[in-house]
Amino acid sequence: MNYLQPEKLETALEQINSDNFTIAAGCTDLLPATDKNIISGNILDISKISSLKGISVDKEFRRIGSTTTWSEILNSNLPECYQMLRECSREIGSIQIQNSGTIGGNLCNASPAADSVPCLLSLNASVELTSINKKRVLPLGKFINGSRKTEIEKNEILTSILIPKNNEKGISNFLKIGARKYLIISITMIACRLEVNKDLIDSISLSIGSCSEVAKRITSIEGLLVGKKLENKTIENLDLNSMTELSPITDIRSDKKYREEASKVLIKQTLHNCLKKIKSE
Ligand SMILES: Cc1cc2nc3c(=O)[nH]c(=O)nc-3n(C[C@H](O)[C@H](O)[C@H](O)COP(=O)(O)OP(=O)(O)OC[C@H]3O[C@@H](n4cnc5c(N)ncnc54)[C@H](O)[C@@H]3O)c2cc1C
Repeated sequence: MNYLQPEKLETALEQINSDNFTIAAGCTDLLPATDKNIISGNILDISKISSLKGISVDKEFRRIGSTTTWSEILNSNLPECYQMLRECSREIGSIQIQNSGTIGGNLCNASPAADSVPCLLSLNASVELTSINKKRVLPLGKFINGSRKTEIEKNEILTSILIPKNNEKGISNFLKIGARKYLIISITMIACRLEVNKDLIDSISLSIGSCSEVAKRITSIEGLLVGKKLENKTIENLDLNSMTELSPITDIRSDKKYREEASKVLIKQTLHNCLKKIKSE
């Protein structure tokens, strides 16, 4: 077994190009998935590669390095539309998990209950995948292609999450429901980004997680809201029975019916929260 902890991305890419390695970032998904808290085989620890850390902005995109931790996201200075990502960071596991767990690890693990996915879908995020001789960018909705399945190749590292700067508009909110108050794995979760112009909803990106194999945008409901006045009456009259995107399952955390009903409550609650935020501006 080999354990490598390179400081340069190029070294890491050469290694995964030449041999079989498990990539390790914060290890908060990797270790619990093992029998004896030991990862077998060759390990490539990417946590010391400085170019994978932190948040920067260029002409077109905001770039979140893949090994940026939840605590770093929570404490970063981001525009208002990222409030949902901060709210999500604050609720991931415990403070210890937030200090080690990374945004890239959350996406590559591709759990249907990965909290960051609905937020990043509502920001139209893409992922940058880097190999020794190529970089490619995939929309997040294409990158995760099933429960615990992604498009990443053996010789690639997820290097950044890219958010188009022209999507950095509006206000946002993230809500999740679990079986307890702390250390919650989501039964259902909603992320909402909303732009309002003269009281009317100009655009809305509503995403749901834990209610299908892969988190999704709820375009059927987005369509009902665009152009409507954002007020209590609109929210209460919103017909959520036409929602086609959900395919919840019954599992150890919840049954299908509860997931469906709880999701409807969360959608209305997130809209009320956005309305409150707008009124307080
Ligand atoms: C007690 C506890 C509570 C938790 N609570 C939550 C929660 O509330 N919400 C939630 O969403 N998650 C939760 N998690 C899961 C986990 O903490 C997060 O998914 C975290 O973001 C994973 O990041 P990591 O850096 O630890 O990933 P790791 O465990 O290091 O890696 C996860 C997977 O991604 C791969 N990988 C990691 N980084 C890269 C990369 N840059 N390129 C390619 N492959 C990569 C690894 O090979 C591995 O397959 C919890 C976990 C624990 C143990």
